[in-house]
Amino acid sequence: MRTPFIVGNWKMNLTLSEVEDFLSTVKGRLPDPHDVECAIAASSIYMDALTKFCKKEKNLKTAAQNCFYKDSGAYTGEVSPMALADMGVKYVMLGHSERRKYFDESNKMINKKVKAVIKNNMTPIICCDETMAKRKTADEMNWVVNPVIEALKGISPEDAKHVVIGYEPSWAIGTGRTASAAEIQEACFLIRETLIDLYGQDIANEIRIVYGGSVNSRNVAEIMKQDDVDGVLPGKSSLKAEEFIKIVNYQ
Ligand code: PGA
Repeated sequence: MRTPFIVGNWKMNLTLSEVEDFLSTVKGRLPDPHDVECAIAASSIYMDALTKFCKKEKNLKTAAQNCFYKDSGAYTGEVSPMALADMGVKYVMLGHSERRKYFDESNKMINKKVKAVIKNNMTPIICCDETMAKRKTADEMNWVVNPVIEALKGISPEDAKHVVIGYEPSWAIGTGRTASAAEIQEACFLIRETLIDLYGQDIANEIRIVYGGSVNSRNVAEIMKQDDVDGVLPGKSSLKAEEFIKIVNYQ
Protein backbone atom coordinates (compact mmCIF):
# COMPACT_ATOMS: atom_id res chain seq x y z
CA MET A 1 0.00 0.00 0.00
CA ARG A 2 2.92 2.36 0.75
CA THR A 3 5.11 2.81 -2.33
CA PRO A 4 8.79 2.20 -1.47
CA PHE A 5 10.73 5.45 -1.46
CA ILE A 6 14.48 5.82 -2.03
CA VAL A 7 16.12 9.21 -1.67
CA GLY A 8 19.79 9.69 -2.44
CA ASN A 9 21.22 12.45 -0.25
CA TRP A 10 24.18 14.00 -2.02
CA LYS A 11 24.87 16.36 0.90
CA MET A 12 27.44 19.06 -0.05
CA ASN A 13 29.08 16.97 -2.78
CA LEU A 14 29.57 16.95 -6.56
CA THR A 15 30.28 19.67 -9.09
CA LEU A 16 27.86 20.63 -11.86
CA SER A 17 29.65 18.48 -14.44
CA GLU A 18 29.56 15.50 -12.03
CA VAL A 19 25.83 16.11 -11.54
CA GLU A 20 25.34 16.08 -15.31
CA ASP A 21 27.33 12.84 -15.64
CA PHE A 22 25.26 11.25 -12.89
CA LEU A 23 21.98 12.21 -14.53
CA SER A 24 23.00 10.99 -17.96
CA THR A 25 24.09 7.65 -16.44
CA VAL A 26 20.82 7.03 -14.54
CA LYS A 27 18.62 8.07 -17.49
CA GLY A 28 16.26 5.22 -18.41
CA ARG A 29 17.66 2.92 -15.70
CA LEU A 30 15.42 3.79 -12.76
CA PRO A 31 12.48 1.60 -11.70
CA ASP A 32 8.85 2.35 -12.50
CA PRO A 33 7.61 5.00 -9.99
CA HIS A 34 4.73 2.71 -8.97
CA ASP A 35 7.26 0.09 -7.85
CA VAL A 36 9.87 2.34 -6.26
CA GLU A 37 9.72 6.10 -6.07
CA CYS A 38 13.21 7.59 -6.45
CA ALA A 39 14.46 11.04 -5.53
CA ILE A 40 17.72 12.91 -5.20
CA ALA A 41 18.26 15.47 -2.45
CA ALA A 42 20.77 17.94 -3.81
CA SER A 43 22.25 21.23 -2.79
CA SER A 44 20.07 24.19 -3.84
CA ILE A 45 22.56 25.24 -6.52
CA TYR A 46 21.65 22.07 -8.48
CA MET A 47 17.86 22.38 -8.18
CA ASP A 48 17.58 23.89 -11.63
CA ALA A 49 19.56 21.11 -13.35
CA LEU A 50 17.69 18.46 -11.41
CA THR A 51 14.17 19.78 -11.84
CA LYS A 52 14.74 20.16 -15.60
CA PHE A 53 15.99 16.57 -15.80
CA CYS A 54 13.09 15.29 -13.67
CA LYS A 55 10.50 16.91 -15.93
CA LYS A 56 11.69 14.57 -18.69
CA GLU A 57 12.67 11.57 -16.54
CA LYS A 58 9.44 10.95 -14.63
CA ASN A 59 11.02 8.23 -12.48
CA LEU A 60 13.13 10.71 -10.55
CA LYS A 61 11.91 13.43 -8.16
CA THR A 62 13.82 16.42 -6.87
CA ALA A 63 14.35 17.01 -3.18
CA ALA A 64 15.97 19.97 -1.44
CA GLN A 65 18.15 19.32 1.58
CA ASN A 66 16.80 22.23 3.60
CA CYS A 67 14.87 25.48 3.29
CA PHE A 68 13.86 28.44 5.44
CA TYR A 69 10.40 28.85 6.97
CA LYS A 70 9.64 32.22 5.36
CA ASP A 71 8.69 32.49 1.69
CA SER A 72 10.62 35.70 1.00
CA GLY A 73 12.27 38.67 2.66
CA ALA A 74 15.53 39.87 4.16
CA TYR A 75 17.03 36.48 5.07
CA THR A 76 20.46 36.57 3.44
CA GLY A 77 21.80 33.20 2.41
CA GLU A 78 18.56 31.30 2.98
CA VAL A 79 16.49 29.26 0.52
CA SER A 80 12.81 30.07 0.03
CA PRO A 81 10.31 27.18 0.16
CA MET A 82 8.03 29.12 -2.19
CA ALA A 83 10.84 29.44 -4.77
CA LEU A 84 11.66 25.73 -4.47
CA ALA A 85 8.02 24.79 -5.07
CA ASP A 86 7.88 27.14 -8.04
CA MET A 87 10.85 25.34 -9.61
CA GLY A 88 9.09 21.97 -9.36
CA VAL A 89 10.80 20.59 -6.26
CA LYS A 90 8.64 17.87 -4.67
CA TYR A 91 10.35 17.05 -1.38
CA VAL A 92 12.35 18.94 1.23
CA MET A 93 14.50 17.12 3.77
CA LEU A 94 14.30 18.75 7.17
CA GLY A 95 16.12 18.17 10.44
CA HIS A 96 18.91 15.99 9.12
CA SER A 97 21.34 15.21 11.96
CA GLU A 98 24.03 17.27 10.17
CA ARG A 99 21.68 20.29 10.23
CA ARG A 100 21.01 19.71 13.92
CA LYS A 101 24.70 19.24 14.71
CA TYR A 102 26.43 21.92 12.61
CA PHE A 103 23.65 24.50 12.31
CA ASP A 104 22.01 24.11 15.73
CA GLU A 105 18.61 23.35 14.27
CA SER A 106 16.09 22.75 17.01
CA ASN A 107 12.88 20.77 16.95
CA LYS A 108 11.04 24.10 17.15
CA MET A 109 12.77 25.43 14.03
CA ILE A 110 12.16 22.15 12.21
CA ASN A 111 8.46 22.33 13.07
CA LYS A 112 8.24 25.82 11.51
CA LYS A 113 9.95 24.55 8.38
CA VAL A 114 7.63 21.52 8.17
CA LYS A 115 4.66 23.92 8.16
CA ALA A 116 6.25 26.13 5.49
CA VAL A 117 6.98 23.17 3.22
CA ILE A 118 3.44 21.82 3.53
CA LYS A 119 1.97 25.28 2.92
CA ASN A 120 3.90 25.36 -0.36
CA ASN A 121 2.49 21.97 -1.42
CA MET A 122 5.74 20.08 -1.08
CA THR A 123 6.38 17.05 1.10
CA PRO A 124 8.73 17.23 4.06
CA ILE A 125 11.09 14.35 4.76
CA ILE A 126 11.45 14.81 8.49
CA CYS A 127 14.68 13.27 9.76
CA CYS A 128 14.88 12.15 13.36
CA ASP A 129 18.23 11.50 14.89
CA GLU A 130 19.11 9.10 17.62
CA THR A 131 22.47 8.88 19.31
CA MET A 132 23.79 5.56 20.52
CA ALA A 133 24.02 6.93 24.06
CA LYS A 134 20.35 7.81 24.01
CA ARG A 135 19.41 4.37 22.72
CA LYS A 136 21.29 2.71 25.56
CA THR A 137 20.12 4.90 28.40
CA ALA A 138 16.91 6.76 27.71
CA ASP A 139 13.43 5.40 27.86
CA GLU A 140 11.75 4.51 24.58
CA MET A 141 9.82 7.75 24.31
CA ASN A 142 12.86 9.95 24.17
CA TRP A 143 15.29 8.32 21.87
CA VAL A 144 13.51 8.67 18.61
CA VAL A 145 9.90 9.48 19.21
CA ASN A 146 10.29 12.94 20.68
CA PRO A 147 11.65 14.62 17.53
CA VAL A 148 8.74 13.10 15.58
CA ILE A 149 6.15 14.52 18.01
CA GLU A 150 7.84 17.92 18.05
CA ALA A 151 8.17 18.13 14.26
CA LEU A 152 4.48 17.30 13.74
CA LYS A 153 3.04 19.77 16.26
CA GLY A 154 0.08 21.58 14.68
CA ILE A 155 0.10 19.42 11.53
CA SER A 156 -3.42 18.27 10.62
CA PRO A 157 -4.21 14.59 10.01
CA GLU A 158 -4.88 15.37 6.34
CA ASP A 159 -1.42 16.93 5.91
CA ALA A 160 0.31 14.34 8.08
CA LYS A 161 -0.71 11.57 5.65
CA HIS A 162 1.77 12.86 3.09
CA VAL A 163 4.84 13.47 5.24
CA VAL A 164 7.81 11.11 5.18
CA ILE A 165 9.64 10.34 8.42
CA GLY A 166 13.34 9.47 8.30
CA TYR A 167 14.86 7.35 11.04
CA GLU A 168 18.49 8.43 10.98
CA PRO A 169 20.68 7.25 13.85
CA SER A 170 23.67 9.60 13.65
CA TRP A 171 26.03 6.83 14.81
CA ALA A 172 25.26 5.02 11.54
CA ILE A 173 25.60 8.04 9.25
CA GLY A 174 28.78 8.17 7.22
CA THR A 175 30.40 5.62 9.54
CA GLY A 176 29.98 2.49 7.44
CA ARG A 177 28.25 1.02 10.48
CA THR A 178 24.67 0.23 9.46
CA ALA A 179 22.09 -0.40 12.15
CA SER A 180 21.00 -4.05 12.11
CA ALA A 181 17.72 -4.86 10.39
CA ALA A 182 16.23 -5.65 13.82
CA GLU A 183 17.34 -2.30 15.29
CA ILE A 184 15.93 -0.46 12.29
CA GLN A 185 12.60 -2.28 12.52
CA GLU A 186 12.42 -1.65 16.29
CA ALA A 187 12.84 2.11 15.82
CA CYS A 188 10.53 2.34 12.80
CA PHE A 189 7.87 0.35 14.67
CA LEU A 190 8.12 2.84 17.57
CA ILE A 191 7.75 5.71 15.14
CA ARG A 192 4.67 4.03 13.61
CA GLU A 193 3.17 3.55 17.11
CA THR A 194 3.74 7.24 17.79
CA LEU A 195 2.00 8.15 14.55
CA ILE A 196 -0.92 5.92 15.58
CA ASP A 197 -1.13 7.76 18.93
CA LEU A 198 -1.08 11.12 17.13
CA TYR A 199 -3.31 10.42 14.15
CA GLY A 200 -4.92 6.98 14.46
CA GLN A 201 -4.19 3.72 12.66
CA ASP A 202 -5.52 4.60 9.18
CA ILE A 203 -3.39 7.70 8.78
CA ALA A 204 -0.32 6.11 10.40
CA ASN A 205 -0.59 3.29 7.86
CA GLU A 206 -0.24 5.77 5.01
CA ILE A 207 2.87 7.57 6.30
CA ARG A 208 6.17 6.38 4.90
CA ILE A 209 9.08 5.80 7.25
CA VAL A 210 12.56 5.56 5.71
CA TYR A 211 15.92 4.60 7.19
CA GLY A 212 19.25 6.38 6.63
CA GLY A 213 22.72 5.35 7.78
CA SER A 214 25.35 3.60 5.63
CA VAL A 215 22.84 2.05 3.22
CA ASN A 216 24.39 0.45 0.13
CA SER A 217 23.53 -2.00 -2.65
CA ARG A 218 24.50 -4.97 -0.45
CA ASN A 219 22.33 -4.20 2.59
CA VAL A 220 19.34 -2.42 1.01
CA ALA A 221 17.20 -5.51 0.28
CA GLU A 222 17.40 -6.79 3.86
CA ILE A 223 16.51 -3.36 5.27
CA MET A 224 13.59 -2.96 2.86
CA LYS A 225 12.15 -6.32 4.02
CA GLN A 226 11.31 -4.90 7.47
CA ASP A 227 7.58 -4.36 8.06
CA ASP A 228 7.72 -0.73 9.10
CA VAL A 229 10.49 0.35 6.72
CA ASP A 230 9.17 1.96 3.54
CA GLY A 231 12.39 3.24 2.08
CA VAL A 232 15.99 4.24 2.53
CA LEU A 233 18.11 7.39 2.39
CA PRO A 234 21.56 6.46 1.09
CA GLY A 235 24.14 9.25 1.46
CA LYS A 236 27.65 8.35 0.37
CA SER A 237 26.53 5.45 -1.80
CA SER A 238 24.17 7.71 -3.78
CA LEU A 239 27.09 9.72 -5.17
CA LYS A 240 28.05 7.06 -7.71
CA ALA A 241 25.39 6.62 -10.38
CA GLU A 242 26.01 2.88 -10.87
CA GLU A 243 25.69 2.20 -7.14
CA PHE A 244 22.52 4.33 -6.92
CA ILE A 245 21.03 2.39 -9.84
CA LYS A 246 21.74 -0.90 -8.01
CA ILE A 247 20.18 0.42 -4.79
CA VAL A 248 16.93 1.57 -6.41
CA ASN A 249 16.68 -1.70 -8.36
CA TYR A 250 17.06 -3.79 -5.18
CA GLN A 251 13.90 -5.86 -5.84
P1 PGA B 1 25.39 7.76 4.67
O1 PGA B 1 24.42 8.98 4.96
O2 PGA B 1 24.66 6.81 3.78
O3 PGA B 1 26.61 8.36 4.01
O4 PGA B 1 25.68 7.11 5.98
C1 PGA B 1 23.10 8.74 5.28
C2 PGA B 1 22.34 9.97 5.64
O5 PGA B 1 22.92 11.01 5.97
O6 PGA B 1 21.12 9.91 5.58
